[in-house]
Amino acid sequence: MSESSKSSNQILGVDIGGTKVAVGLVDQDGKIIAQGRKPMIATSTPEAGLEAVIGAIDSMISSAAGGIQSIGICAPGPLDPKTGVVINPPNLPCWRNFPLAEKLVAKYRVPVKVDNDANAAALAETRWGAARGFHYVFYATIGTGIGTGMVFDGRIYHGHTGSAGEGGHVSIDYRGPVCSCGKRGCIEVLAAGPAIGARTRAKLAGGAQSAILDLANGKVGGVSSELVGKAYAAGDQLAREILQETVDLLTPWLGNIVDLLDPDVLVMGGGVAAMLEPFFDDIKNHLPSWCVNPRASEIPLVMAHYGANAGIAGGAALCSQDPP
Ligand code: ADP
Repeated sequence: MSESSKSSNQILGVDIGGTKVAVGLVDQDGKIIAQGRKPMIATSTPEAGLEAVIGAIDSMISSAAGGIQSIGICAPGPLDPKTGVVINPPNLPCWRNFPLAEKLVAKYRVPVKVDNDANAAALAETRWGAARGFHYVFYATIGTGIGTGMVFDGRIYHGHTGSAGEGGHVSIDYRGPVCSCGKRGCIEVLAAGPAIGARTRAKLAGGAQSAILDLANGKVGGVSSELVGKAYAAGDQLAREILQETVDLLTPWLGNIVDLLDPDVLVMGGGVAAMLEPFFDDIKNHLPSWCVNPRASEIPLVMAHYGANAGIAGGAALCSQDPP
């Protein structure tokens, strides 16, 4: 059993996903000092899932000079951030109402915080990243899905039951395609990576000419959102069209967010956001058409600071003592 020194100021950030556990040592300035990853055992018993997480934590604690101060964990929701109970995430079938925080406190004897990925990443951006110094922060990460988090005056907004922040499941079309959540027209089902890939494949199958097909060795089935990004960077017209369509979906959605929250800043993370960055000016220019807020165009739209390490930084931010 690892007993950690409370005098250390290093935080252990843990990012639990369906296939891997990423861990990192993070200092009080949000700098990731060391990191690693281990496989997650998501489809076996609750104990096997816990052991996988403990194995990942132990591998990092052994390299933490002076031990660790606390452990912050990002996990897929739904979960209860107040109690640290993981409720029933679809990609972690091993855990149903699993008291993750309680188990880890019993083992490591340090404070343990648990929150969902996007909430935690939003906090990391506010504490240490692209939203530092802002009071009202809206963060979105666009990848397989669209996760969002809101941080107001340095605190994650959780809502009444802890379920707040599901901006990816805000619908922009009640007649739209059915999302994995069961609702229609969620921005996630329309504009996340899989939707971009699917829209591209449909156009190519319909006979559209594009370098994207060459990048996929002529196989329409092999076309992904990443290849659209590569083709766009090489000047491909169809790729530009696809990305413009994606931006045309995201802009009214961001307009809804701005009218609801009037945030100080909009932060975008995830691989798809990086691909869309050349279109940020276009989004900002068209935002006023989708807002009643007369000052919508003043709100900065910026890329997230943390890329692939958003989960590790997010976990650590949950335990950071410094107010933003
Ligand atoms: P997640 O953690 O959300 O699963 P991933 O990075 O694995 O995120 O990405 C998943 C989705 O995002 C896929 O549909 C993928 O094609 C798309 N995606 C990821 N990175 C990029 C990128 N750099 N450019 C374009 N699309 C990307």
